[in-house]
Amino acid sequence: RRAYSRTSRKRRMKRADPIVLSAPSGTGKTTLAHRLIEESDNCVFSLSITTRTPRQGEQHGLDYFFVDGDRFDQMIESGDLAEWAYVHGGRYGTPKKALNDAADLGQHVVLDIDVQGALQIRDAIPDAKLIFVLPPSVDVLLERLRIRGTEESEVLGLRLRSALEELEVALDFDYIIINEHLSDCVQEIRDIIEGKETVGLNSEAIESIEVCRAGITSILERD
Ligand code: ADP
Ligand code: 5GP
Repeated sequence: RRAYSRTSRKRRMKRADPIVLSAPSGTGKTTLAHRLIEESDNCVFSLSITTRTPRQGEQHGLDYFFVDGDRFDQMIESGDLAEWAYVHGGRYGTPKKALNDAADLGQHVVLDIDVQGALQIRDAIPDAKLIFVLPPSVDVLLERLRIRGTEESEVLGLRLRSALEELEVALDFDYIIINEHLSDCVQEIRDIIEGKETVGLNSEAIESIEVCRAGITSILERD
């Protein structure tokens, strides 16, 4: 009887699709994801596990679950991860629990993950909304990375090279948005969640990808 009432409650609840945010490192997707969750009462953050070492100020259970390689292997073997990938030399993954907990609460789960993970989520959950975030320009991207100050110049090159690979996949996403002003961008994501934003990929978005790729390529060739 309990099981029956639980099922009917779930059926009555509006389905809340997962929202996947991907972007070149430094674009601001972590900032966007956190702002979105602060301002929305129907979104929760999916906390990932990673084998990378914490940056200064990062906390276990708040920014990531920081785990060692053995624990990561264990979680893969137990089928506990909805997706996982190697990103910038570390391993990152989304615990299935984060998705299940959100579904039980009727909340949208917001995933801040790389493009490989995003495509795995789409395979597993075809209704997931995939949003690719672009910086307003490559100069702004470099400035944001510099202000964040978490990258050595060697790692910066690595991140820009990954950005080029990520931009290759951007056209497979459902939406492309530009993170110029934070509040406008958060509002755009909220419109997508509410189904108000219907235009996914337009010619402007496609051109923005090309401009970004050209900018990054010229920096990598210069250095
Ligand atoms: P990502 O998660 O994409 O690597 P972060 O969220 O860490 O990027 O953001 C990189 C830096 O850019 C941070 O210092 C953040 O405060 C800043 N930032 C993010 N979005 C904006 C914005 N719209 N305008 C100005 N600065 C931003
Ligand atoms: P950072 O080390 O800067 O926190 O994150 C590096 C990259 O890993 C970012 O693109 C971030 O979105 C991605 N990432 C974070 N968590 C996950 C995850 O659970 N799965 C995947 N595939 N990528 C993730």
